[in-house]
Amino acid sequence: MTDTGRPFLVMAPLALLVAGYPFLPEGLVRETGYSVIGLLCAVVGLVGLVRHVKGRRRGWQLVLGGFLGWVLGDVVFFLEQRVFEVEAYPAVSDGVYIASYGVLAYGLLVLVRRRGERSDLAAMLDGAILAAGVAVVVGVFLISPIAADSSLSGAGKVTSSLYPVADVLLIGILVRLWTAPGARTAAFRLLAAALSSTLLADLVYNVTTITSESLASVLVSDVCWLGGYVLVAGAVWARSVNELTETAPGREDLADPTKRMFVLTGGLLLPAITLLVDGIPDGDVHWEIVAIGAVLLSMLVLARMHGLLTVVRVQAVQLAGLARSDALTGVPNRRTWDHELSRACHLARTTGEPLCVALLDLDHFKLYNDRYGHQAGDLLLREATAAWTSMLGDGAMLARYGGEEFAVLFSGQRLSAAHAQVVELLAHTPGGATASAGVAQWDPTTDPSSVVGLADQALYAAKRGGRNQALTADPGASLDLPHPSIVLQPIVDLSTNESVAVEALSRFAEGPPLEVFEQARRDGSGPALEASAIVAALRDRPVGMMLSINVGVDVLTSPVVRAALTGDLTGIILEITEHSDIDDNVEVIAAIQEYRGRGAVIAVDDWGKGYSDMARLMVLRPDIVKLDMSLVHGMDSEYNVGAVRAAVAWADSVGAKLCAEGIETEEQRAALRELGVHYGQGFLIGRPAPADDPATSDRAAVTT
Ligand code: GH3
Ligand code: MG
Ligand code: MG
Repeated sequence: MTDTGRPFLVMAPLALLVAGYPFLPEGLVRETGYSVIGLLCAVVGLVGLVRHVKGRRRGWQLVLGGFLGWVLGDVVFFLEQRVFEVEAYPAVSDGVYIASYGVLAYGLLVLVRRRGERSDLAAMLDGAILAAGVAVVVGVFLISPIAADSSLSGAGKVTSSLYPVADVLLIGILVRLWTAPGARTAAFRLLAAALSSTLLADLVYNVTTITSESLASVLVSDVCWLGGYVLVAGAVWARSVNELTETAPGREDLADPTKRMFVLTGGLLLPAITLLVDGIPDGDVHWEIVAIGAVLLSMLVLARMHGLLTVVRVQAVQLAGLARSDALTGVPNRRTWDHELSRACHLARTTGEPLCVALLDLDHFKLYNDRYGHQAGDLLLREATAAWTSMLGDGAMLARYGGEEFAVLFSGQRLSAAHAQVVELLAHTPGGATASAGVAQWDPTTDPSSVVGLADQALYAAKRGGRNQALTADPGASLDLPHPSIVLQPIVDLSTNESVAVEALSRFAEGPPLEVFEQARRDGSGPALEASAIVAALRDRPVGMMLSINVGVDVLTSPVVRAALTGDLTGIILEITEHSDIDDNVEVIAAIQEYRGRGAVIAVDDWGKGYSDMARLMVLRPDIVKLDMSLVHGMDSEYNVGAVRAAVAWADSVGAKLCAEGIETEEQRAALRELGVHYGQGFLIGRPAPADDPATSDRAAVTT
């Protein structure tokens, strides 16, 4: 049966009786009928209470108890009138009636509290505001006349005033019930209808007694009172009777604001309307009551407003927080990142401080998701964020840039420092996972998004270069330097003709490489251009092959070059070229040691020419010495052969290897091999070619 079906079945016969009530003959019969209908309702209500109200019953017991009290009052009143012929006012029945109001009001409060939150101050204030407005009306039009009625004794005046006061209280509770959160079930509606019916009956009755109106209106209030009994008896038969006492599930279904505004407007307008109506006949008004009511109302409304403003402020703070951070990881989201980046760039521009950006991306995260599930993936994102965030200091901000990509803003830090931190972050990626990163320093002449683009390029290079590493962005890219493109030249073992490495050589649209590097050195952008060439070479690094890279000895210690040569250098040959005479520079030696410690093989370039004499070999202690092509091309001279022989003897005695450059003829190759030179390169063996050139990728073909 539906929620409303059962109540209607039990209410229908009772309602029929109430409908017949006005047709009963006036006097004893009708008065008896009144009490009988009331008692029948009481019985139906009690049966419903016992059968259907489960669990926490106290609220309903008290509510029904209040109504039963009124039925009892009716019976006592009947006896007073018809049997004991009591004349006195107030009589016992008044006591019963008024006590029942108290019981009912308490029961309703119990229901209301179960229904909504324990302290729904707002709903209580709404109820109080309307009740205060009604109290002004009641005070002026009901209680004042009662107080002035000389036919009433003191106790009579108090009793007569208590009825309307109790009604005002009920109105307040009814509003509280209506505005509290919770479903509007059949039980709820029936109870609210019962209360409304009773209040209407009281209103009509009070007006009737004051104005001594016709008996017809007494009939109206009788029917309304009986209607209230029927409705409350039906309410306890509704299926939803127990839901009413359950805590409201959420606050989403808050009574709609229009309804609340209606209630509040009503309460607020009542004093003014009362004043108007009160003053119309003779200009004589009950100003004290209206004034006190108005003051009380103002205070209640202010309290209500304060509550609202507090809620608005708290929610504004919460919303701002939600809009700024990523829901999964709690770190700043992309929107915040964009905002913070442009702010930091603006600041960096004014202070002249450096600014770096890193992009971090988990490696093979799709695979991780596929293998361990999406939830484990989410957990990894959270853990990685937490680990990384905890490692970053005040000057850095980590944000979730996209799916499994994170961005870090390093304010006031140079590329090398930022890079070092990112390397640390990657080392602490949790869950056995790895990540790759690209780091870039912002060029203040560009807009903020360009540094993210650079970091992204570096990240891409890091991914291509095997992942689990942090690379710095091509330093030349932001400085408007010539753009190196890389060609690779094969190096072979002269005794077996097997390919052992490739040398990366830079080519420029601007002119011959030596001139472009020389020009950059004069402009002061030498280190940046060299670093740029290193980054480009590493990016085009062929798989499974040693890669030889040229580095000027004067830039070995520069931060850009250090940043370009980060991480593991296994498989990398650093060909140190000399453009100037270096003394036994401690820093250079230390840097070489450091690169070697990370796996790099050290070679000295262009030996036999310029500054590269024997003394340099003592200082740099290379693993490989590259013989300059001027030596190779002069193999017909005994002086050259002697020099090569000396170099071979030196190399053999210290365990180093020799590599001849610029081999162009078979004779040169044969002679060098004869002398014991280990490796060789040159046009005879293979011309420099771009990395994607088939000749370069298939090295074996070149060397045979
Ligand atoms: P690579 O090493 O090249 O970065 O490979 P990858 O698999 O990490 O990169 P790809 O961009 O191919 O895949 C990213 C994956 O990240 C795909 C997507 O399902 C997953 N992902 C993105 N956002 C979330 C997220 O919020 N939670 C989880 N669990 N997975 C996510
Ligand atoms: Mg990705
Ligand atoms: Mg990834």
